[in-house]
Amino acid sequence: MNRIAVIGTGYVGLATGAGFARLGHDVTCADIDAAKVEQLNRGEVTILEPGLPELVRDGLDQGRLRFVVGAAEAARDCEFAYLCVQTPQDSMGAADMRFIEQAARDIGAVLPEGAIVVTKSTVPVGATLLVAAALKRPDVAVVSNPEFLREGSAMRDFLNPTRIVIGADAREVADRVAALFRDVSAPVIITDPASAETIKYAANSFLAAKVSFVNSLSAVCEAVGADIQDVVLGIGTDPRIGTDFLQPGPGWGGSCLPKDTRALVHISAQAGYDFSLLRSVIAANEEQFDRVVAKVSRAAGGDLRGRSVAAWGLAFKANTNDLRASPAMEIIARLVAAGAEVRSYDPAVEEIDGLKVVDSAMEACDGADALVVLTEWDEFRRVDWDEVGERMRTRTVVDARGVVDRAAAARAGFTFVGI
Ligand code: NAD
Repeated sequence: MNRIAVIGTGYVGLATGAGFARLGHDVTCADIDAAKVEQLNRGEVTILEPGLPELVRDGLDQGRLRFVVGAAEAARDCEFAYLCVQTPQDSMGAADMRFIEQAARDIGAVLPEGAIVVTKSTVPVGATLLVAAALKRPDVAVVSNPEFLREGSAMRDFLNPTRIVIGADAREVADRVAALFRDVSAPVIITDPASAETIKYAANSFLAAKVSFVNSLSAVCEAVGADIQDVVLGIGTDPRIGTDFLQPGPGWGGSCLPKDTRALVHISAQAGYDFSLLRSVIAANEEQFDRVVAKVSRAAGGDLRGRSVAAWGLAFKANTNDLRASPAMEIIARLVAAGAEVRSYDPAVEEIDGLKVVDSAMEACDGADALVVLTEWDEFRRVDWDEVGERMRTRTVVDARGVVDRAAAARAGFTFVGI
């Protein structure tokens, strides 16, 4: 058992804190948001993440997990301090390191001698040096341990990861961090900090490239009359390619892929390399948003001005209520900009400033000229298409997620448009 401070209780910090408590460690999580800390100490988790509330309550009940206000409060007694604060995109496309630097400054003065600081936030190459400079503690080693969890299965991914990557300058320090995961069965990859930091950006950029590739391929399939699903099956069965992240859709998004791809383009440019391939991956994603908008426009009669569009799904993917850089939100913004009136529904989202969000999938369809499915929630797979049709002005559906029961929609007289 080790004493671990986790700085930042967002998606990653909370999963890390609850996960380490489950692994038997003594965990103190800190945030600057006092209201959030109070809620978490009562066992209330506001983010939608399967299994997370149970693990948080379990950790609190067992006395292995607690929440405090302020990073210093958590770090003064720790052996390991995990930095899990946000690294948003700055105006140049680079990672904004202000939160990381502030968190490091917060804990620098209070860390016990010989503690290890671990960066779990996604940070560019060189961040380890930046953290060390902000800490002003030559006795404290700084290690990179990037996180690969996926929202919607964060706890499963933290406790059963595909790999654990640790970047440290000294092997002995890396081994101490690896020992925290002693009860986790996963390959441990020990490397230097620059490589660990690059691995995280490379992983997200590669995943984005796969999705952009298949989305661009879907445009080719449409043009030549091929079936993208059969093509995906035909290429994905090759183990060198694989079917994961190879489903056509509305474009990739979420809190990580957009900012991490742009950050890697930026890191590369700073280092003197123009990563043109990755720039194209990003451009193809923007095109994909526009392709979906064009499909909805055609479905609504060719011009969106004054048209009513029902949008099913707002979250960036199913099983989360995270709206950050959601493709659904991108596409809805473009529909609104083109003059459409959008009524949206998402099972995990109650309201959004400036957007009409209703309480049910059916209600969103009232009087709509077209329906577009933007998040792959299970409930959209099983709907009464006769009722949907009765509520809409025109029976057309654009399925950007491949969840609509096409046969059932066709029986109810729907014109179906897929990706
Ligand atoms: P988030 O915005 O949900 O959470 C960050 C939290 O840190 C906030 O609650 C904020 O109040 C807190 N914070 C900021 N400064 C602080 C300080 N000085 N002291 C204490 N708390 C502070 O962010 P997130 O989605 O959890 O992402 C965190 C990092 O992990 C990012 O670098 C992200 O790129 C990376 N990451 C995210 C995911 C994901 O799926 N969300 C997956 C892998 C990696």
